[in-house]
Amino acid sequence: MTHRLNGGCHCGAIALELTLPRPPEEEIVGACQCSFCRKHNARTVSDPRARVRLVLREPAELQRYRFGLAASEVVLCRRCGVYVAMLMVEDGRAWTTINIDALDERARFTRPAESRDFSGEALDGRLGRRKARWTPTELVGWPEEGG
Ligand SMILES: [Zn+2]
Repeated sequence: MTHRLNGGCHCGAIALELTLPRPPEEEIVGACQCSFCRKHNARTVSDPRARVRLVLREPAELQRYRFGLAASEVVLCRRCGVYVAMLMVEDGRAWTTINIDALDERARFTRPAESRDFSGEALDGRLGRRKARWTPTELVGWPEEGG
């Protein structure tokens, strides 16, 4: 049985649907230690058996932000400021890790957040790990990179 959760930014410009293979109460909650996530105190979820649809309803409101090794980018809403996801795109395929607090049912993620610090990782290792652990994602309505 899969569990579908809706979410997105606050104003509705960016929407997402997360389909989990297990209840949110059983999903591993990450506390990424990257400098961006720490400034948001973000809790994140990614699961290679899950699926995400990231729907850009208003393309003009998409804000992308890259930092560090720039192996991925942050997806933010330009209008309401919500941090929605971290996104990696390669060869037309996309993976995300989702900001749990951008989900309507954020309160169901009740496991304690596990600290994750990948700052010492080389770029090659980082890309491989993300493909293995992040959630395969369908980009809908995006200006480039398919969808
Ligand atoms: Zn918004």
